Amino acid sequence: MFINDNDIQQVLEAARAPDTRLVETILAHAREMKGIGPEEVAILANVQNPDLLHQIFETARSIKEEIYGKRLVLFAPLYISNLCGNECLYCAFRARNTAIHRRALNQEEVARETRTLIDQGHKRILLVAGESYPREGFQYILDSIATIYATRHNHGEIRRVNVNIAPLTVDEFRQLKAAQIGTYQLFQETYHRPTYAKVHVGGRKQDYDWRITAIDRAMEAGIDDVGIGVLFGLADWRFEILALMQHIRHLEDTFGVGPHTISVPRLEPASGTDLASSPPNPVSDDDFRKIIAILRLAVPYTGIILSTREGPQMRGESYALGISQISAGSRTNPGGYADHEDYDASQFALGDHRPLDEVIRSIAELGYIPSFCTGCYRLGRTGADFMDLAKPGDIKMHCEPNALSTYQEYLNDYATPETRAAGEALIDKVITEMQPEAARRAQTLVDRVRAGGHDIYC
Ligand code: SAM
Ligand code: SF4
Repeated sequence: MFINDNDIQQVLEAARAPDTRLVETILAHAREMKGIGPEEVAILANVQNPDLLHQIFETARSIKEEIYGKRLVLFAPLYISNLCGNECLYCAFRARNTAIHRRALNQEEVARETRTLIDQGHKRILLVAGESYPREGFQYILDSIATIYATRHNHGEIRRVNVNIAPLTVDEFRQLKAAQIGTYQLFQETYHRPTYAKVHVGGRKQDYDWRITAIDRAMEAGIDDVGIGVLFGLADWRFEILALMQHIRHLEDTFGVGPHTISVPRLEPASGTDLASSPPNPVSDDDFRKIIAILRLAVPYTGIILSTREGPQMRGESYALGISQISAGSRTNPGGYADHEDYDASQFALGDHRPLDEVIRSIAELGYIPSFCTGCYRLGRTGADFMDLAKPGDIKMHCEPNALSTYQEYLNDYATPETRAAGEALIDKVITEMQPEAARRAQTLVDRVRAGGHDIYC
């Protein structure tokens, strides 16, 4: 198997005390934007000195801006079912938990949730489900994806459906690809086998190997946009980030391309689970900032996703540390957008309860550009093609203009008057600061949207 615990332990033990010279050498290497190695990651993970930490954060910020510009991509999770046959001791959906109400949405309910998200202004959805489907079996997932794509409402539609569902066979992954998903996302939760065995005590998910090889099967089936992640709080975070790097290296060596995204969920309290409220290896806010920044240095071209598990303060800080995608206005109970039931069916407690409009306004106030762009995926710029484009920094020629045009579209169709006024001023300012060629392109797209156009991208 491609996770080598011994190698990781050795690198962690050998990591020298981080003196200023050493950290500066590593940061200079990171600024070349080719990534840094496991030994360097392990040394940065040991940094405690505030001045050195500040330098790490500054380097992460400059790398993020060099590659991604100021944009921040937005999406919403859509939980279609909380039925589950597994016993993950941290999750409210675990099979034996009687503290929550069970529900699998039917297709009309999926459409209703989709309409609600469209009316908020969302264009990207992450479909999420527990690991057990209603009687239609896996077809239930395919039907739900088709329902989401087929739903149109008022000004909008969902243009990209990413999925976070249990590991599949290669044949099932082929069907998922044929359903035109964006990214297939799956978190290993913990790469540390003994911890994995302790917290997964029932159902198919007990099989560590079946889970860790899922991304390989997805790639074999032709899904080249994949997302991986760690549930922070289960095992030592230093071990986890080094294992994550081994996983990435394995995918690059085997398929020529690494993951499109990395997610960094931290354990949150969940109904009917003690473990979630008292994580075995809690990650402090200081360490969490360090994790995000180190990942940005280690894999500069990989998107990093932050969810509404985190509160507004941490989310605001994280954009400058390297986060490139966030969810907003989220609910983690099936039916949570359209229905306002008083029973508990949620997966975990949220840290950010603000509606999308408020999140958008706060992003803009911090000088970032909210983006609903789905251009790359729809023009086939995925997997290795995406990396070819991303690596020389050319992605700025597409991403930033598309971010601005989709932001303007949101402002036209969904924003409150204050959000719209602040947003349009930001768009105008950003365009004046862009390189001439990108600025021309952005202005053309934005003008077309201001004239009433929809879905304008390059
Ligand atoms: N059931 C599928 C699975 O386990 O991969 C996919 C959906 S599951 C709802 C999505 C993710 O939620 C899990 O991979 C896990 O990392 C995360 N999760 C579960 N319980 C959590 C908790 N208490 N706090 C934060 N994240 C949690
Ligand atoms: Fe089920 Fe996924 Fe929750 Fe585990 S994390 S109990 S598999 S929904």
